[in-house]
Amino acid sequence: MTTAISAPSSADVIATFKRYVVPNYGRYPICLARGEGSYVWDAEGRRYLDFFPGWGCNLLGHCPEPVVRAVQEQVATLIHVPNTWYTEAQGEWAKALSERSFGGQAFFCNSGTEANEAAIKLARLHTPKQRYKIITFTGGFHGRTLGATSATAQPKYHEGLGPLMAGFVYAPFGDLEATTKLVDDETAAIMIEPIQGEGGVNMPPEGFLAGLRRLCDENNLLLMFDEVQTGCGRTGNWFAYQKFGVTPDVMTLAKAVCGGVAGGALLTTPEIAPSLRPGMHAATFGGNPLAARAGIATLEMIEQENLLENGLRLGELFQQRFTELAEKCPLISEIRVAGCMIGVDLKVEGAPAVQACLERQLLINCTHGHVLRLLPALNLSVEQAHQGCDIIADVLQRMAA
Ligand SMILES: *Cc1c(COP(=O)(O)O)cnc(C)c1O
Repeated sequence: MTTAISAPSSADVIATFKRYVVPNYGRYPICLARGEGSYVWDAEGRRYLDFFPGWGCNLLGHCPEPVVRAVQEQVATLIHVPNTWYTEAQGEWAKALSERSFGGQAFFCNSGTEANEAAIKLARLHTPKQRYKIITFTGGFHGRTLGATSATAQPKYHEGLGPLMAGFVYAPFGDLEATTKLVDDETAAIMIEPIQGEGGVNMPPEGFLAGLRRLCDENNLLLMFDEVQTGCGRTGNWFAYQKFGVTPDVMTLAKAVCGGVAGGALLTTPEIAPSLRPGMHAATFGGNPLAARAGIATLEMIEQENLLENGLRLGELFQQRFTELAEKCPLISEIRVAGCMIGVDLKVEGAPAVQACLERQLLINCTHGHVLRLLPALNLSVEQAHQGCDIIADVLQRMAA
C-alpha cells in the first residue's frame, strides 16, 4: 500500500490544525498516515522505527492483525449499546482480565484518568464515612481530569488550576516511614504506580510495595495500583504487581488494554466491587463491544505469540545495550528496565536526543526533562531493537563529543 498522490501533505494538515484544533499539545511538525508493526509512515511516505508506539498504547505495534480483525468483525455486528443491557463481549473481556490477574471483577471506562476517577470514588464509597484521604506519591502521574490531576503529586501539572480536589496527601516515592506517618483515621487508600512511568521509569525500592501492603492491611486502607502504563504485559508480566509479588485491592488499566483502541478498566476484588453500587458511577461508552473485542484479542495475541516472554527478552537486550553504552558515554547516569518499559536517565536534557533520533527516523520519548523513555512493542524484532539502539548510541555519543 502506498500513500495516494492526492493525500494532503504534512504542511496542509498542520495548517488545518492551526485554524481548527485547540493548541494544547506540543506536536512534532509531522503528520503520521499509517502504521504496521513497529513502523509508521508520515504523509510524505517517510518510514520511522517506532520505539514509543501510541504513547505506550500500541503494545503490539501498529495495527496488530488479530485486533484489526476482531474490531472489523464487531463493528459490523454491534458498535455500541448502553450498560442497561448485557453483552457477551463485555463479560468475556472481564473474565479474561480477571483470570490473568487476581480473580476480581471489572468496571470498564475509556481512559486511564477515568479508571483512576473510579478508583478514587470507590475508595471513598468503600471505607467508613469519615475516611476520604488518599495518599499518592511524588513524581506520580494519574491523569488529567481534576480528581486525577489532584492525585498527581507534581506541582507543574497544578499551575493555575486551583483549588484542587481536597483529600490527597503526598508522600515521597519510596519512603515507607514518611508514608506511614501520613496515615490517620481519615485515610481511605494508598494509590501508586508500581513503576512510575511519566515520572521517569522509577522502580520502587526493594520491599517498598510490600511495606505499603502491610500498612494498608494494618489500617484497613485500600491499596490501589495505577497500572495504566505498566499493565497488560508491558513489563513482561501480565501486570507489574506480579513482578513484585504484592497484590493490590484495586488496579486501574488503560493505554495498552485494548491494543491501541481506546479503553480503560478498574479491577477489584468481589468483596470490594459492590461498593461501586448502581447509580453511584458509570461510563456511557465503558466496556462497549468494540473495546471489549479489541481487549480480548490483545490478551489472546500476547498469549499465542508468547509475547510476555518476548518482552522480558527484549528488556534484557535493551539493558545490555545501554549498559555497554553507559561505559563509553558519560551522559548516561542510570538505566532502568522492566521488560518493554525502558528509561535511560541522562545527566543532560533529553529533548535534543529525541530530536536527533527523529531526524534519523527513530521515534522515542523524553520524560521528566532528562529521562529517555522507550515503550516499544512486545513484538519488536531483535533486529529492529538493535537498529534503534545503534541510532540512540550514535546520537548520545555525538552529543557527548
Ligand atoms: C497515561 C497514564 C494515565 C492517564 O491515562 P489517559 O488514558 O491519558 O487518561 C494515568 N496513569 C498512568 C500511570 C499513565 O501512564
